[in-house]
Amino acid sequence: MNDIPPAMWLVFAAVMGACVGSFLNVVIYRLPLGQSIVSPPSRCPQCATQLAWFDNVPIFGWLLLGGRCRQCKNPISIQYPIVELITALSFVLVVWLTPPGPLLLTRLLLVCILIALFGIDLEHQILPNSITLPGIVVGLILSFFAPPGWRDALIGMLLGGAILYGIAWAYYLWRREEGLGMGDVKMLAMVGAFLGWKAVLVTLVLSSFSGALIGVALIVIQRGNMKLALPFGTFLAVGAAVAMLIGEPLVNWYAGFF
Ligand SMILES: [Zn+2]
Repeated sequence: MNDIPPAMWLVFAAVMGACVGSFLNVVIYRLPLGQSIVSPPSRCPQCATQLAWFDNVPIFGWLLLGGRCRQCKNPISIQYPIVELITALSFVLVVWLTPPGPLLLTRLLLVCILIALFGIDLEHQILPNSITLPGIVVGLILSFFAPPGWRDALIGMLLGGAILYGIAWAYYLWRREEGLGMGDVKMLAMVGAFLGWKAVLVTLVLSSFSGALIGVALIVIQRGNMKLALPFGTFLAVGAAVAMLIGEPLVNWYAGFF
C-alpha cells in the first residue's frame, strides 16, 4: 500500500466518492417517498425510461446527456451531478486529512450520511428516523474501534440530543410553535455518537452562526420573509463536516486569541 503515491489515492478517493454520490442521489430521491433504494434501476423520473449504464457514470453521464433525458428530453435535475461532485470532493478531503485506519472508514461513512441528510432536509424539510436512529447506533458501535472512543461518543450523543431538545422545548414555550424539529435533535445526537462531545459544541456553534448569517441575508434579500429560511439540518450537516475535518485546529486557533 505504501508504494502507491498519495496523489493516486486522492484520485481513487474522487472516483469512489463520485460513485457513492450517485447512490446518495438515489437515497435522497427515493427514501422520503418510501421507495426501495436498491431496485428498480435508475429511471427518468418523467418518462420512466431506464438509464443506460453509460448514462449512470457519475457527473459525466449527466454532462454527456446535456442535462436532458435521452428519451423524453425533459431536463434532469442538476442536483444529481452536484451531489456526485460534492461527495467526490468530500472523499478527497477526508482521505487527505485522515490517516488510514478505522477512523478513515468512520469519517467516510459519516460524510455520506451528512450529505444524504443535507439533500433530504433541503428538499423535504425532514430528517428521516430511518437514517438518524441507525446512525446513532452505528456511531456508538464504531466508537469502540476508532476515536473519539466510546465514553466520549456516549457523552456526545447525550449532550447533542439534550442541548437541541432543550432549545426546542424553550422555543416551544416561548412561541407556542415548533421551531426545531425532533429530527434536528436526533441528528446532533448522531453527530455526537460519531465525533464526541467536543465536536458537538463546534458543530452547534458553526451551524448556529452560519444559519443566523444566511438567515439574515435571506431575510434582507427577500424583504422580511422569515418562513423562507433554510432548514436547520442543512447547517448541522455542514457544521458537523467542518467540525469533523478541522474541528481541532479550529478550536486551537480560536483559543490562541485569549
Ligand atoms: Zn425521460
